[in-house]
Amino acid sequence: MAFDLSALLRPHIATLQPYTSARDEYMGKEGIFLDANENPFGSATETTLSRYPDPYQWDIKNSLAQLKKVNPTQIFLGNGSDEAIDLLFRVTCTPGKDKVILLPPTYGMYEVSAGINNVSVQKISLTPDFQLDVPAILAAITAETKLICICSPNNPSGNKMIREDVYEILDKFPGIVLIDEAYIDFNDEQSFTEDLSRFPNLIVIQTFSKAWGLASLRMGMAFASEELIRVLNLVKPPYNISGLTQSHVLEALQHVGKVEEMVRQILNERTRLREKLNALPFVDRVFPSQANFLLVKIPKAKSFYNQLIERKIIVRNRSNVQLCENCLRITIGTPKENHALLQALEAIHSNMS
Ligand SMILES: *Cc1c(COP(=O)(O)O)cnc(C)c1O
Repeated sequence: MAFDLSALLRPHIATLQPYTSARDEYMGKEGIFLDANENPFGSATETTLSRYPDPYQWDIKNSLAQLKKVNPTQIFLGNGSDEAIDLLFRVTCTPGKDKVILLPPTYGMYEVSAGINNVSVQKISLTPDFQLDVPAILAAITAETKLICICSPNNPSGNKMIREDVYEILDKFPGIVLIDEAYIDFNDEQSFTEDLSRFPNLIVIQTFSKAWGLASLRMGMAFASEELIRVLNLVKPPYNISGLTQSHVLEALQHVGKVEEMVRQILNERTRLREKLNALPFVDRVFPSQANFLLVKIPKAKSFYNQLIERKIIVRNRSNVQLCENCLRITIGTPKENHALLQALEAIHSNMS
């Protein structure tokens, strides 16, 4: 099937002219810079932040390209992955006309972006074991469907989607398939970035917020065809990633080994916490997890949640989410934090009965 990106873009986006900033027109790093109305004396802070940052973050992209085995021009960097998701909605979906397919239970941000952009959402529930209902998804596609969002490993269920199912959707859906890999670093599954050359309708989202431990920086990545990345660059605010963020991310990229070590510890704790939770007689089920959290089914989940809060232990109550009745989503903490959690659960349970 021939892929025509321009047919998937909102008409005014397909013809939009890019804004060129001062830092676009002259890329050199040396000289007397009198082009961007910056303060020549420095900053109000001790750290000098007086110059506008690189609008396309090439230093980071060149480094990331090697790590992720893609071209620098296939990378978009956003203010959190939320920015990439929102921009994708804005460039593809005409408000009040187009629609997206979402696969609950899943990450809430897709529906928020759809709502902000007045894009209608069609929900196709995951199967009871949290896999893709491929026939139902394919049957729901209409001429107005621009986007299907797949989260793998999925939040809040923690499992990864069966790879062949994802390929079938990529093959048969003429619109764009967003694969959210926020939790890719917590399992051995290969990234869908390896399939970018095969599927021009694929966009893969990753983040620095989880395994890299940089949630406060707000830094997300999108990987796609050069053509689609060009469109995202066209609509982003010119300086969407601050200079401070860029320098911190560049520093982080020098410490991949530290990330691997933290991930190893989180995976060890995931195994240990899972075993300990399974050993608690009042816990119904701990779902298998490929991520840095566990979905735990426990009778009276709401009550456990509230009493954990009284003990200053905060987990996520997912009881009201479909297929997640009586489920808590628990992030893997340090050994000490996980120990405190387990003790609190036992204490709450013995007070209940
Ligand atoms: C945490 C998370 C993200 C990360 O969002 P950022 O805006 O990059 O912090 C993205 N997708 C899913 C499914 C997540 O759980």
